[in-house]
Amino acid sequence: MKDLIRNSAEFLIPFYSRTPIAIVSGHDHWVYDERGDKYLDLTSGIGVTGFGHSNRRINDAIKRQLDKISHISNLFIIPGQAELAEKICNAAFPGKLFFCNSGAEANEAALKMARIRGIKRNPGKSRVLSLSGSFHGRTIATISMTGQEKYRRGFEPLLPGVDFIGFNDESELEKKMGDDVCAVFLEAVQGEGGINPLSSAFIKKVRDLSKKFDFLIIFDEVQTGLGRTGRNFGYQNFDIVPDMITMAKALGNGFPIGAVLAVKDVAAFMEAGMHASTFGGNFLACAAGCAVMDELNSGMLSMINSLSEYFLKKLEELKGKYKDLIKENRIFGLMIGIELNPAYPVKDAVKGLLDSGILALRAGENVLRLLPPFTITRKEIDYFCEKLALLLETYSVTSKY
Ligand code: PLP
Repeated sequence: MKDLIRNSAEFLIPFYSRTPIAIVSGHDHWVYDERGDKYLDLTSGIGVTGFGHSNRRINDAIKRQLDKISHISNLFIIPGQAELAEKICNAAFPGKLFFCNSGAEANEAALKMARIRGIKRNPGKSRVLSLSGSFHGRTIATISMTGQEKYRRGFEPLLPGVDFIGFNDESELEKKMGDDVCAVFLEAVQGEGGINPLSSAFIKKVRDLSKKFDFLIIFDEVQTGLGRTGRNFGYQNFDIVPDMITMAKALGNGFPIGAVLAVKDVAAFMEAGMHASTFGGNFLACAAGCAVMDELNSGMLSMINSLSEYFLKKLEELKGKYKDLIKENRIFGLMIGIELNPAYPVKDAVKGLLDSGILALRAGENVLRLLPPFTITRKEIDYFCEKLALLLETYSVTSKY
């Protein structure tokens, strides 16, 4: 293990602050390190392996494809692309898709498409509105649209033509709106921002203004998509149908793939040569994506929603008992935020859980974030709640918050 840590420090650019655990295998919601120690994974690798580690049906689909062919350029027809596109349209809305390799790439493509369509309709219609607290990726264009200063600092000059609106702030949205706006980027529930849902009033305002100002409504479904919030896509929790959605993470259950779905009217503005990706929509990624969509369609949503109800009940019991430490529970399907009182730093909770063999995440200001694989059962939810209760108990006894 010392060698692994030393080699990582010597050979890898230090962009990540890594927990010194080397994970080597996994199945369902369990992962194992190189010593054979077992961890309950309540992160899905930040919302990726929603359908469980080493999912047999998804792995088999990738293996079958690997033995046939893995790559040809997008200058030819790749049959899996249309098959996957049709499955995604059936789960969301009718439209056309572009495939890429990650969430940031999907948002880049959506931005380019929104600008092409905007400028073709009205030269100068290129401004984008995004929300404070949002997260859209780490490329220059996507940090430019990310409403959190910490991700943008040091990389200026950023992409011009992006303005930020306070989270769920209808009046600021109205003030900053104009004919030059080509798109509004939204997350149904902000993930990195701290598990914060859009309000129905804000959604209604976006919808009303879009009719007047002819901008595109783009939902970034990279974290909320593919069952995570208890619906196929996060926007389906609200009374709105977007013009475009972007997705990645769970779409390959660990195999890299991203996608943009656009309504046909928007897709009609695009022409050959405007955008491309060498690896986007390759055979293996599409095989993984098709298998993921089949898993999603196999009664997964009702399971997610019943686990979600149970999780909320248990978390509310904990909140009742430790009301000074838990400020609020926010849960959408299996996208879970437990906002802790600032007196109890979330990094201590994450560390305490890790010591008990549980992987958890943090987000926003002081939010314990859980994105468990959909394979978890009530037994693991009980186990997590017991361990969290122990931590809260110890903290409330030893501290004078
Ligand atoms: N958009 C959202 C909402 C995300 O949560 C993320 C990643 O966490 C991204 C975009 C970026 O995705 P990727 O890391 O695949 O580029």
